[in-house]
Amino acid sequence: MSYETVRAADPAVADALAAERDRQNDTLAMIASENHVSEAVLEAQSSELTNKYAEGYAGERYYGGCEHADEIENLAIERAKKLWGADHVNVQPHAGTQANMGVYLAMLEPGDKILSLELNHGGHLSHGHPANFTGQTYDVEQYYVDEDTGYIDYDGLEETAHEFEPDIIVSGYSAYPRDVEWERIQEVAEAVDAYHLADIAHITGLVGTGVHSSPVGIADFVTGSTHKTIRAGRGGIIMCDEEYADDIDSAVFPGSQGGPLMHNIAGKAVGFGEALEPEFEEYTKQVVDNASALGEQLQEHGFSLVSGGTDNHLVLVDLRESHPETTGKEAEEALEDVGIVLNANTVPGETRSAFNPSGIRIGTPALTTRGFEEEAIREVADLITRIVNNLADEDVKSDVSDRVDELTNEFTLYE
Ligand SMILES: *Cc1c(COP(=O)(O)O)cnc(C)c1O
Repeated sequence: MSYETVRAADPAVADALAAERDRQNDTLAMIASENHVSEAVLEAQSSELTNKYAEGYAGERYYGGCEHADEIENLAIERAKKLWGADHVNVQPHAGTQANMGVYLAMLEPGDKILSLELNHGGHLSHGHPANFTGQTYDVEQYYVDEDTGYIDYDGLEETAHEFEPDIIVSGYSAYPRDVEWERIQEVAEAVDAYHLADIAHITGLVGTGVHSSPVGIADFVTGSTHKTIRAGRGGIIMCDEEYADDIDSAVFPGSQGGPLMHNIAGKAVGFGEALEPEFEEYTKQVVDNASALGEQLQEHGFSLVSGGTDNHLVLVDLRESHPETTGKEAEEALEDVGIVLNANTVPGETRSAFNPSGIRIGTPALTTRGFEEEAIREVADLITRIVNNLADEDVKSDVSDRVDELTNEFTLYE
């Protein structure tokens, strides 16, 4: 976008918006939770619907003038149902965290018990962290990944579930490179009479096309973000069986939100429509193939990966063996200097801290959107290696930075 109109009204904001567009164009986004939406989604998200109050649901709004809002929300819902095969869909949550909040509010009382994966092992703040409302409202116990294999410790999960007797078990993760045994977790949930919430925030797109196994129809509730592996713009979504539909809908509105962000729901409708096209299935396959290629190439260069590889869109590098003197933060900062943007991440059995952890998390959704395939991704792995092996070498940095410029010019993004 050119931001000409913003510039005429507000040059300071226009400058920052244009600079952000350029930053996205000129860097390689490898933050596993990020992606780039189409121009069509961008336009829908910046529509006049930002002006519209539409509290309630289609056909039963608390305001007049909602006929177009109704049409758009219904399109988003129908398309989501088709994409994920869900019975009931709520597209109003402002983001993934609010989607989880909707489920907790619908099914739990304050003080009820949540069993979830520990944050340092790949969980999410909204699964019961003390700094989040979930940790402050509910009684939380954690399960873990096996520190030797990097895979979920399903036996440990089962044992803890029987001891703790949770009201809800949360699956679905932020930094977990492997497929999830949804049915196994569902069996545990049923055995201890708990609900099962599968939070597919990271893998919504992969699940939608069947490139990743799906918890829909297995778990009681499935929540997601709409801006990670699916390119539908910033937002959240809840899916469930018809029997929970009313509870979920009223927990979202009026339970925890006011007017829905109808302009974002328009973005979701457009993005879900795009995701139903065959090209999107090809895209998600390429995301996974690219992550495998990235992981293999990094391993060739001596890096060790948590769990030894990946089944999805991300790899989690544990720097402790290959680069014992280098922290994830140092790697992140040096890579950002050359235009490769990713994030430091804790690893299972973390021996440093959450602020300066021992790993880096690297995802392929955004580069795949730009058209990167295996060969180019392997070259990016080579560039990452050169930087992490030579953190303070300015010649290496300037060399890699030049190559990043060439790659971003070759794989174009926004006009
Ligand atoms: C990203 C993420 C969320 C949602 O985050 P928002 O920023 O609120 O959209 C929820 N759960 C998991 C596991 C995530 O990775």
